[in-house]
Amino acid sequence: MDNQINEVTIVGGGTAGWLTAAFLVRFMNLRDEENPTKITLIESPNVPTIGVGEATVPTMAALLKSLGISEKEFFLRCNASFKMGVRFTNWSHDEKGQATSFIHPFEAIRTQLGGQNPAYHFHKYGGPPGREGIDDCMSFSGTAIKKKLGPKFLTHGDYETQLNYAYHLDAGKFAGFLRDISIERGVNHVLDDVEEVEQDERGFISALKLQRQGRRPVELVIDCTGFKGVIITQVLKVTFHDYSKYLLNNRAMAVQIPHKDVSQIEPCTNSTALGAGWVWRVPLYNRIGTGYVFSSHFRSDDEARDEFLQHLGEDGKDAEPRVIPVRIGRMERAW
Ligand SMILES: Cc1cc2nc3c(=O)[nH]c(=O)nc-3n(C[C@H](O)[C@H](O)[C@H](O)COP(=O)(O)OP(=O)(O)OC[C@H]3O[C@@H](n4cnc5c(N)ncnc54)[C@H](O)[C@@H]3O)c2cc1C
Repeated sequence: MDNQINEVTIVGGGTAGWLTAAFLVRFMNLRDEENPTKITLIESPNVPTIGVGEATVPTMAALLKSLGISEKEFFLRCNASFKMGVRFTNWSHDEKGQATSFIHPFEAIRTQLGGQNPAYHFHKYGGPPGREGIDDCMSFSGTAIKKKLGPKFLTHGDYETQLNYAYHLDAGKFAGFLRDISIERGVNHVLDDVEEVEQDERGFISALKLQRQGRRPVELVIDCTGFKGVIITQVLKVTFHDYSKYLLNNRAMAVQIPHKDVSQIEPCTNSTALGAGWVWRVPLYNRIGTGYVFSSHFRSDDEARDEFLQHLGEDGKDAEPRVIPVRIGRMERAW
């Protein structure tokens, strides 16, 4: 039996689908360029992408570099900005009841304090004079964030840096950027809706029925249809392990607000605790994405909307938050 897979089919054209396509078209054919594995991505022209997912972690920079993507072009196309860590505000209080704040820097621990464990040093002595946070004991990222500085010099090339970083990015533009690169590199793009899925006698997916193009036999399919799980949930009925009794935040509302001053972009994500969850604030180059992840056990949508808009104040005067129900848990088998 010939086990060679000649074509991989991806269903879904959000960030997950196009990242998968960009990865496979780059790495599947390194050994045998003469007989490339065909990569096809099928995406619905009718079902929109989720449109959130704008704050990343440093592995994203490593991934883009490994895909041979120009970082400069990525910044321009995706309205990206640097993210050197996350500032957590209002998650705890000091002895006077005042909200406290700390920065989680994206840095491996650099002992600026003579080789000692910085957590131990912080616990015993506090931060260096004038730099009170635990992040100040670990790296320069916290200081750079507070001063709104970037992680690299203008003379640095793509992915060269002084400090570890990730990105804030426009998720819709990022999917489009990866789409253009993937198509240029040979990915076959099909705009159609998967309506039905055929399985063989082993239960493996053997064909997809597309609304316009009809039946399409497949060898290996990757389901990137987001919360819908068109194949993994609706057809394969893979067990979903529900974690909602442990992770209570099960709804989100998101808005986009303008910058007051684009020269003051903070190179970090902000995470601020509110009454029934927390608010993310992700500054892109051209705007800020912000939203409230909350628990319906403690707030109705209307109550959460009021609380969120009050938190945004003047910044949210024209905002109309879009509510996103979130499924909390994991698939038993992702593969
Ligand atoms: C509130 C919230 C905040 C988040 N914040 C972050 C964050 O800051 N950072 C982060 O990394 N992640 C974040 N995430 C997670 C992130 O948004 C998702 O993991 C990611 O965007 C999901 O992308 P996706 O491509 O899987 O799905 P989607 O964007 O939902 O795309 C689904 C795709 O499937 C297609 N499709 C659906 N049905 C069919 C069909 N029948 N036939 C053909 N195509 C079909 C659609 O057209 C679409 O192209 C957040 C998620 C939520 C809910």
